[in-house]
Amino acid sequence: MKKSLLQKYYVGVDVGGTKIQASLVTEVGSVLANHRCETPRGVSGHNGSVERTLSAIEESIRVLLCEQNCMLDDIAGIGIAVPGVVQQESGLVVVTPNMNLSGVELGRIMKDRFGVPVSIGNDCNLGTLGECWLGSGRNTSSCVGIFVGTGIGAGIVFDNRVFNGAGQAAGEIGHIISQIPCDHWRREMISTKRKREAKSSKSKELDISRCGCGNYGCFETFASRSAMERFIREAVEGGAKSVITELNGGTLNLIKSGAIAKALKANDKVVTSIVRYAAQVIGYACLTVRHLIDPEVIVLGGGVLEACQKFMMPVIDAVVANDQLPVLSSNRRILISSLGDNAVVLGAVALVRSRNGFNPLRKTHRIIPKYPQLHFMAEKVIHIADEPYAKDFFILSDGTIRPRLRLPKKNIHGFRLKDIQMLVEGGVDLIIFGSSEAGEITLSGKCRDYLFRRGIDYRILPLDEAVHFYNTVAVRRSAVWHFAVDGN
Ligand SMILES: [Zn+2]
Repeated sequence: MKKSLLQKYYVGVDVGGTKIQASLVTEVGSVLANHRCETPRGVSGHNGSVERTLSAIEESIRVLLCEQNCMLDDIAGIGIAVPGVVQQESGLVVVTPNMNLSGVELGRIMKDRFGVPVSIGNDCNLGTLGECWLGSGRNTSSCVGIFVGTGIGAGIVFDNRVFNGAGQAAGEIGHIISQIPCDHWRREMISTKRKREAKSSKSKELDISRCGCGNYGCFETFASRSAMERFIREAVEGGAKSVITELNGGTLNLIKSGAIAKALKANDKVVTSIVRYAAQVIGYACLTVRHLIDPEVIVLGGGVLEACQKFMMPVIDAVVANDQLPVLSSNRRILISSLGDNAVVLGAVALVRSRNGFNPLRKTHRIIPKYPQLHFMAEKVIHIADEPYAKDFFILSDGTIRPRLRLPKKNIHGFRLKDIQMLVEGGVDLIIFGSSEAGEITLSGKCRDYLFRRGIDYRILPLDEAVHFYNTVAVRRSAVWHFAVDGN
């Protein structure tokens, strides 16, 4: 890790149902290192294992700092995200349905153990905050993040602030009732024949599934990752032919996002219909959000959505575009998370920093990383601090320089999606592609779609113009420098 004495560091922790991620983050929001470990499973009942979960959180932070050769004195604050209802001011976890931290004063306990300021928040709220700071929600004052996982959660940023609600429970979008379980009165009034049918079969009532929260007809019973898995299992057990079992390593216990994406690519009928249905439901959830809050941006996140964006986003777009309620035209958008797994830890860091009056959502509080100054030389060489560069290289969002070791096999002037993902990492407004032969660089449709779905701009320019542009444009940026091929 490159450490500087002037720099302040923060730790962001994402405590999930299955894993804990602790990250070391700079003031400008660059993630320097991650440490991931499994969340301990409660074996001796809830109360017995609280201490194990607390120890695991503490341990993940200590291991991260130790691995990075970092002292506690270097740390200005720790932000922790948990999946549940949290009282932000006091640091109390009110309830975590899928974990054993309910009623635990997590903020105070961690402050006692580390002796630095600690803030805690809800994971979906903090994921949205992270996206608003550096990801797809940047440059907006209102944004709703919808995260599709085991359940469906959301975070609301309104007027540059996270909106928590009176009982700290705003954003529970997965539990919005979308199939109203109380139309019995209509059946009472219809003809006696149909009434008898309805009574005998009880099927109407069975149509509505019960959610993990105890209510009936919640959004997440139709479109969460668990719902998709349940539908797939039902179909396969019912005899429908599908390649999903094979793609998922012979089991349907836990279906991986990658296997779902592959099944879509293989035109698997079962998976295609189920994912299309889930995407439609998510589209309707987006419409509901629009009709209630009308945010500038809705950011969608979660493994399935990120893996299956090419298939799911057009379906979601179509549902939203078909909205019949007339509104003023505007540039409201539905985007995909740019920060992926790091959104929550970055939001947690933004939260603990907000204790000192820092608001990452205000433009004036946003700091741009220190970027290297480039010099373009006549012989098509770029100099950085007197070091010549004549072979392809990247400059990442935090200013790190990295050689580009592999060119795509098929088209040497093209880019692999992995390259583009690396350039987006850490959050950027703009990607600059500098090329020694103007116009030779090509971006595949897949790469362009990836950037478009995250609201990220890009410019392809000749090397000299690209260098000038890189040095002068005042936004968070990354770049790739592509030289004549015989130079590689
Ligand atoms: Zn529910």
